Amino acid sequence: MTARIIDGNALSARVRGEIAERATALTARGVQPCLAVILVGENPASAVYVRNKVSACEKAGIRSLRLDYPADVSPEVVMARLAELNADPSVHGILVQLPLPKQFDEAAVLEAISVTKDVDGFHAENVGRLSQNQEAFLPCTPHGVMKMFEAEGVDLAGVEAVVIGRSNIVGKPMAMLLTNAGATVTVCHSKTRDLNFHTRRADILVAAIGKPRFVTGDMVKPGATVIDVGINRLPDGKLCGDVDFESAKTVAGLITPVPGGVGPMTITMLLENTVISADRAARAAGK
Ligand code: NAD
Repeated sequence: MTARIIDGNALSARVRGEIAERATALTARGVQPCLAVILVGENPASAVYVRNKVSACEKAGIRSLRLDYPADVSPEVVMARLAELNADPSVHGILVQLPLPKQFDEAAVLEAISVTKDVDGFHAENVGRLSQNQEAFLPCTPHGVMKMFEAEGVDLAGVEAVVIGRSNIVGKPMAMLLTNAGATVTVCHSKTRDLNFHTRRADILVAAIGKPRFVTGDMVKPGATVIDVGINRLPDGKLCGDVDFESAKTVAGLITPVPGGVGPMTITMLLENTVISADRAARAAGK
């Protein structure tokens, strides 16, 4: 058996086309969606992520406001700027690229972003709303995975879903979204005793570990849907996921590649959240 491959680039292009149409319509109503992106320091991976986000905004007709600070900036300076952005009606989304240098309390910075502009979905209130299955800005990577399930017609009700990884940005919100969708969810992590026992009974297996090609074909249930969230850079400079694609694709029914799988969906959902926020602002302003 060879798995069908979920093309994240194609799905992303389709959804971004719809987002661009919504952005154009909002701009015509006098509210151009705007995302503010804060980058502190010179972490090369963060710089690439921020560049990609800003460029994706431009292509979708979303205004972006890029704010760069040196690595030794005082947290008070960034907090003061956040307060200004919160109060600025022309800004609809605020994103602080993580990780932040050690003088910052990351949780405090995320809490300082207005809940109504928290397009990354990391504010504790949005996380709480997600856990209660209430409307909230959803964290972009797991939300992008849910879009993939929807586009592929993957039925989640009653299935066994196993998420490897329990981070705040991927593993935990992924588990909550799957739970809300009716899956029976198991969260595995570095302390899990018998990982293979869990993965081999997963109808849906999501890998968000950060270890190249960690999940091999023998860990996959035949016919399973395998979602690879990992982005790892190999010594030769190439990117690979947390799943050993070559062996897993011979067992799985559906699988995402890296690159070209979950990665492009993450930025797409950030654009979508920004447009949703701008739409709310336009309605509130009677436009
Ligand atoms: P993280 O380091 O915060 O979390 C990794 C998780 O993996 C932890 O919960 C840990 O317990 C678990 N883990 C580590 N070793 C394990 C093991 N041996 N067995 C089982 N579990 C183990 O990472 P993260 O921020 O959640 O990111 C995970 C991966 O996803 C990384 O490769 C990251 O680059 C990638 N990522 C991709 C996107 C995207 O847009 N596609 C977005 C965010 C993160």
